[in-house]
Amino acid sequence: MSVSTKYIFVTGGVTSSLGKGIISASLAKLLQARGYSVTIQKLDPYINIDPGTLNPYEHGECYVTDDGAETDLDLGHYERFLNVPTSQANNVTTGKIYQSVIDKERRGDYLGKTVQVIPHITDEIKNRIRLLGLTGNYEFVITEIGGTVGDIESLPYVEAVRQLKWELGKDALVVHLTLIPYLNTTGELKTKPTQHSVKTLLEYGVQPDILVCRTEHKLGLDLRKKIALFCNVEPDAVIEAIDASTIYEVPVLMEHEQLDLVVLNKLHLAKGGNADLKKWKDFLSKLKNPKSEVRVGLVGKYVELKDSYKSIAESFMHAGASNECKVRIEWIHSETLNEKNVEEKLKGLKGILVAPGFGSRGIEGKISAIRYARENKVPFFGICLGMQCAVIEFARNVLGLKDANSTEINSAIEHPVIDMMEAQKRIVNKGGTMRLGAYKCKVKDGTRTHDIYGKKDISERHRHRYEFNNKYLEQFEKAGMIAAGKNPESDLVEIIELKNHPWFIGVQFHPEYKSTVANPHPLFVGFVKAVMGVPVKEKAVH
Ligand code: GLN
Repeated sequence: MSVSTKYIFVTGGVTSSLGKGIISASLAKLLQARGYSVTIQKLDPYINIDPGTLNPYEHGECYVTDDGAETDLDLGHYERFLNVPTSQANNVTTGKIYQSVIDKERRGDYLGKTVQVIPHITDEIKNRIRLLGLTGNYEFVITEIGGTVGDIESLPYVEAVRQLKWELGKDALVVHLTLIPYLNTTGELKTKPTQHSVKTLLEYGVQPDILVCRTEHKLGLDLRKKIALFCNVEPDAVIEAIDASTIYEVPVLMEHEQLDLVVLNKLHLAKGGNADLKKWKDFLSKLKNPKSEVRVGLVGKYVELKDSYKSIAESFMHAGASNECKVRIEWIHSETLNEKNVEEKLKGLKGILVAPGFGSRGIEGKISAIRYARENKVPFFGICLGMQCAVIEFARNVLGLKDANSTEINSAIEHPVIDMMEAQKRIVNKGGTMRLGAYKCKVKDGTRTHDIYGKKDISERHRHRYEFNNKYLEQFEKAGMIAAGKNPESDLVEIIELKNHPWFIGVQFHPEYKSTVANPHPLFVGFVKAVMGVPVKEKAVH
């Protein structure tokens, strides 16, 4: 398919955290619902090459694509909303831009010229934006510019937008997301910060076409007209983005505000079909009107910042809605758990998820939680490090290998049940050197996992260095912990499950990266069912 691509740039003003990612994803959803093909890209103005080396406390979860890119968590929203995979090309950072310009300089590609922000850095940014359009796969490329207009770091990006808008003419437009604060003392909504932020954009030569205004109260017509007058936009291009109870409501609010129609009019495009949001609205209605509620414990070491586990929390929303059940997550800090208090702390929870993570902090707490879940037959779901901890717990307390551990935590041990593969050991760099992205997995017949997926051949995304040590597999399987899934090429264990337990599954991969509104992940759906106490089939092999 080859189509002429329209480019929409989404900038942010007044303050960060207004939800550019959600507005971008909602606009994309509406265009998609009218039959257009859309992709969304995030430009991040920080100097890290990617967020892979960032502590989750800094920037929330690191999201991983099929092709192994470690990306900003907004890409997770894009996929969850659109149900279309993103890739390396969908997240660009200043680090990546400079790295490639400097590589070109070293190769002599600039033929002796002085290398400068304009045009060399801005050209590189523009190329990255156009790259997605050049694939011929998309009628719309929506590019979200991270940060806030006026930041030093985002200047080259805003300049690239100015140049592209000039070059693309009628094929491009700029949506600026701002805040209309409400002053309690006077009981008024204030437009001044928005006026200033648009003025800043104008100083850089960019006239926004549409203003999306975050607000706690409805924007009346007078206010819209006032904003329009001060900012050179039409009143119908002043869009109200009122606070929503869930991010999944935003596409419906934007539909009501006709954001998609304003965009299509400005780009002189046909409306396409009517926006078909039926499935989306069904999901939303189930999400907002659950018939039951369950409490699940999420044991992790970054629980102070909920964004660290964004995709897991969203996967629970999808799986909860599909079961018409509200999943209430109890965030439990793994460092606060030990063998003595675990019972008291976890009592009453109907399911326990042990989260991914790196390093030794909180490990013993995770292992105590798993022992509690295993012995008390509480449904358990372990993801990546959570699965590795389940293996360590079983080795210590069932197989009697008292010092069992992962070599990530302690390398001077007799029983490295989780270990690094030889090829990994030679790598010294930290960034981008893990087992990353999609790998195949063959699910074993007759296992609970097979029942859940309903098929044998699956593919899931990875982000880890350490693996189940196959030397111990026979011992584990004899004692009741089986490899329910393996990589068909490398034979690495991807999934473990316990016999004689209502629901105990650990996965080396990250199912949460693939759960979307349209396709809730089967493992989360199955786990929520187990937590709700829906009877599960007894297994033949078990
Ligand atoms: N730290 C573990 C590893 O590198 C697990 C990683 C994770 O949980 N994502 O293998």
